[in-house]
Amino acid sequence: MTQSLRTAWFLLSRLMLVLAAGMLAGLMLGSLWVGVILSLGVALAWQLLNLFWLDEWLRHRNRHDPPDTPGLWGDVISQVVRLHRRKRYHKERLLQVLRELSQSTAALPDGVVVLNALDEITWFNQPAARLLGLRGRGDRGLRVSNLVRDPQFRDYLGRGEFAEPLVLRRTEPDVSLSFQIVPYSDGQRLLMVRDVSRQVQLETMRRDFVANASHELRSPLTVVTGHLELLLSDDALAEDVRSPLQEMQRQAYRMNGIVNDLLDLSRLDAQAREAASDEVDVVALCAILRKDVLARPGHPAVALSVETHARLLGDEPGILSAFSNLVDNAVKHTPESGVITLRWALLPDGAAQFSVADTGRGIAPEHLPRLAERFYRVDTGRSREAGGSGLGLAIVKNVLMHHGATIDVQSTPGAGSTFSCLFPARRVKIVAEERTDPPNE
Ligand code: ADP
Repeated sequence: MTQSLRTAWFLLSRLMLVLAAGMLAGLMLGSLWVGVILSLGVALAWQLLNLFWLDEWLRHRNRHDPPDTPGLWGDVISQVVRLHRRKRYHKERLLQVLRELSQSTAALPDGVVVLNALDEITWFNQPAARLLGLRGRGDRGLRVSNLVRDPQFRDYLGRGEFAEPLVLRRTEPDVSLSFQIVPYSDGQRLLMVRDVSRQVQLETMRRDFVANASHELRSPLTVVTGHLELLLSDDALAEDVRSPLQEMQRQAYRMNGIVNDLLDLSRLDAQAREAASDEVDVVALCAILRKDVLARPGHPAVALSVETHARLLGDEPGILSAFSNLVDNAVKHTPESGVITLRWALLPDGAAQFSVADTGRGIAPEHLPRLAERFYRVDTGRSREAGGSGLGLAIVKNVLMHHGATIDVQSTPGAGSTFSCLFPARRVKIVAEERTDPPNE
């Protein structure tokens, strides 16, 4: 028999007993019904009394021991006591976990701010209070964009993609802070704040050093190349001297190229904000680049694939330098019998793509992820021979980054490569097509 059946049977037998006692008392008093009513009344009063004790104890259970009641009421009370104990145990554990969590986040060296769907601050730890000048509970509910008043920060908050942190320099106190958003459930977001002043300072020192060293190298190099040119212009120069002098001149030009590329990179590195938004006529630029290639001796064929007349909103000198770097590379690595195709096209989502495809020697897949690293060369000897500084693609990547653009490289060894620059829609301006017949060749 189960416990509940046993209890029901026990209750029923007790009720029968009380009823029988009542009937007996009723018979003795001369009325059976009076006895029945009396016994049922007593039974009901007993139940009500137990219910009252239970209610009293539940209201003040923290101060009183549970009532010592036999039978079903006793079972109910002991079950309530068990449930209550279990609840208290889980509450304690949860509180303990919360306490540990809050202690560990407070001990983090980085600031953590919890933002709700409206970007209002709902919680922050001690380092965040220190770094952002938050004062206490009073600052909860404050919009974070009212606290960090910087247009770049507002743009960053509105972005949907937070893989890269945003570094901002604050003047009072003079610190560089890195902000990174980590989205989690239901539109809630974590804002991680880190003091990166030291890293920024070291990076600035490195950049300044490279820029100064490159700048200092320029004058002696100009003197050397000038003298070499003068010496080589002498027709009476002995042949055994001419050859080493020509090699010296070649190397001096190469050094000049490296110094210029380093200076370009330093300038780009120092540029904190997004590039300007001049209207760049990419179609005209493609024509210039093509003409430039055709003017070189032993050049491959150049085809244009102009699919749009949309203008690119960007920094014209930077864009020209990036595109000509890609074209230069294609020329360097494509034989005379090959073809280079310059393509300018709109994509369905409003973005635009400039690509340089060649039918040259291609690049093995293991090199692709490292191509844009400074001084990374696939074939060092051949690249040096071709006069490459190893900085070209680093410059391209840097210019594109300042335009919010990315570079993609597809290549098949032996068949050729395609370098594509993908510009976001905000960098593209659609114009009424003046020419219905684009100069495709
Ligand atoms: P470099 O100035 O030496 O050309 P880059 O940064 O422009 O340096 O290019 C890095 C390396 O990528 C080059 O050394 C070259 O091996 C490879 N590379 C770049 N463009 C191409 C291309 N179109 N075809 C084959 N290899 C290329």
